[in-house]
Amino acid sequence: MATDLLKNIRSRIERAGGIGEFPDWYILELSGFKRRWSTDMVVDLTDPADPLKTKPESIKVVRVQHRTPDNSWITGGGWRHHPDVTLSQMESHAIEMSLKDWIIGIPHGGSKGGAAFDPRKVSQKDLLTIVLRIVSEAIEENIIGPYIDRWAPDVNTNPTIMKWIQDHYAYEMRKQGRPQPAAAVTGKPVQFGGMPGREEATGRGLHYALQTFRKNLDIKLPDEPTAVLQGFGNVGYNFAKLAKEFGIRIVGVQDQYGGFYHPDFSIDELFKYVNENPRRTVAGFHEVCKGDPINSPEELFAKKCDIAVPAALEEAITPEVAKNFGARILLEGANGPTLPESDPILEDKGVIVIPDIYANAGGVTVSYFEWEQDTHIRPFDPMLEPPKERDAGLVFSALQGAFSRNGKNIIQLRNTIKEGRKPITYRLASYIYAMNRVFPIFEVKRRKN
Ligand code: NAD
Repeated sequence: MATDLLKNIRSRIERAGGIGEFPDWYILELSGFKRRWSTDMVVDLTDPADPLKTKPESIKVVRVQHRTPDNSWITGGGWRHHPDVTLSQMESHAIEMSLKDWIIGIPHGGSKGGAAFDPRKVSQKDLLTIVLRIVSEAIEENIIGPYIDRWAPDVNTNPTIMKWIQDHYAYEMRKQGRPQPAAAVTGKPVQFGGMPGREEATGRGLHYALQTFRKNLDIKLPDEPTAVLQGFGNVGYNFAKLAKEFGIRIVGVQDQYGGFYHPDFSIDELFKYVNENPRRTVAGFHEVCKGDPINSPEELFAKKCDIAVPAALEEAITPEVAKNFGARILLEGANGPTLPESDPILEDKGVIVIPDIYANAGGVTVSYFEWEQDTHIRPFDPMLEPPKERDAGLVFSALQGAFSRNGKNIIQLRNTIKEGRKPITYRLASYIYAMNRVFPIFEVKRRKN
């Protein structure tokens, strides 16, 4: 990681706090945390030198719970497996999760966590061992639970891993004679209390965010706008899967192994290529589609097109990338993809930035629906209501409504506030919008304390 992500988000909160004229105590409140858990977990994994033996490994595990304006609110957020996981990275993402919740109107605070290891280098059996140990320790520390902190899929985690977490959580609760609601985890498979549409919710939400901005800003784009995409995991893949339905033509994709550019390739052929590839990478596809290879994010984001979608890791849009940015719209699928120094460069170039805390909030929104369902605020009974028959359409219309309402409000708010003589960015407007929504609740809590 090149920069301090926590410092970046704190400085954005301070700036939004200044423009929004929020009191100092509120900025301090939002810059700090309710709880941080960080441990070095020693776990016996298969010895690479002798697969019949085990070898102890130490894995850093962290979970950060940001703030809840009301003590009855719980926290929720993603769980990732990646060698770069650090406490400060998860702190920054936990704050982002809160802001996303509050933009959408979800009465929860944000959290985020992960384990620092490379899942590509461990067997399925070892992955299960690691996950179960993490859950046992998190229960011991009271860090997970439907009324404490709900975990959701993020980088390198998926519905199967969410089901492992939930099953182990339920097993431990059963041993202690405690209730086992399925809501400690969201993003589970639909047959096990998951919500139809959760898997594609973040990718779909990106399209709703784009639709809302296009409609309210009257952005003139061609009939079939073109897009480049970084990352082809949950967010990128689903964004691409839905692109045709939303009238968008993908022209280039890149991941950490490589990429390609072609103005008119077959997206079905790309899905087939990726699904048959053990690394699930787009690298090498240029040979199939007879396009140009793309070897770096700099190359991808310099391509002239209408929309650029970073949907991989943080800090993809460095100042160098921003200087040569080829798209008119930056739609942030990943969390924290743009460095603060890149923002003014993009602004000067007239790029419309649809910020992460609004654009990629589709996943957290549907996770909240799932949590509501599985805490039995809304009934869930797999025997009475087979998941296949439950309708993702209802989920999608609620999601679209949330994006449309809140996106419109962010745009309106941005049009009323100036910083000096310039209108503020949509990113700052989103921060102020989120901070405005929960400020009165934080104020009441402060008076009570
Ligand atoms: P994922 O693990 O499913 O996919 C990650 C993708 O990024 C893969 O295609 C991988 O090849 C690619 N990638 C990894 N390192 C890269 C690098 N150095 N350069 C280029 N590509 C690289 O993860 P995901 O769930 O799709 O999450 C992607 C981003 O979206 C993350 O920032 C995550 O926090 C954010 N996000 C995810 C969700 C969700 O619901 N999954 C919700 C909101 C935000």
